[in-house]
Amino acid sequence: MSAYDTNNIFAKILRGEIPSHRVYEDEATVAFMDVMPQAEGHVLVLPKAPSRNIFDADPATLPALIATVQKIAIAAKAAFDAHGVTIMQFNEPPAGQSVFHLHFHVIPRREGVPLRP
Ligand code: AMP
Repeated sequence: MSAYDTNNIFAKILRGEIPSHRVYEDEATVAFMDVMPQAEGHVLVLPKAPSRNIFDADPATLPALIATVQKIAIAAKAAFDAHGVTIMQFNEPPAGQSVFHLHFHVIPRREGVPLRP
């Protein structure tokens, strides 16, 4: 597995070098809207601590991360009047990861509306 790349796009967002639509932030985590949403209200949740994915994440950072995932799932379900929420997380390219800073996808789902590819 490659080392963490401090120039990945989410690292730049966390440093404020490129813009994002932030919807939540605390001392350990950040959430912002996905630029290519797979459904209305698609949010990404990240730890501020640098980790490429689940394999190199510091276990001490994970409780705060999953707590933010839960907050965003509850808020996004209400905000987008959704019937459910899909939570996804990918690790390394064969599993679908394309940005190499650990993140969770939180996607509000409506009855009968498939995810966009
Ligand atoms: P993954 O395949 O899990 O690595 O997902 C990366 C996600 O980041 C994709 O859903 C992209 O649409 C999203 N993305 C890429 N660049 C940006 C950006 N600048 N701001 C917000 N989301 C982004």
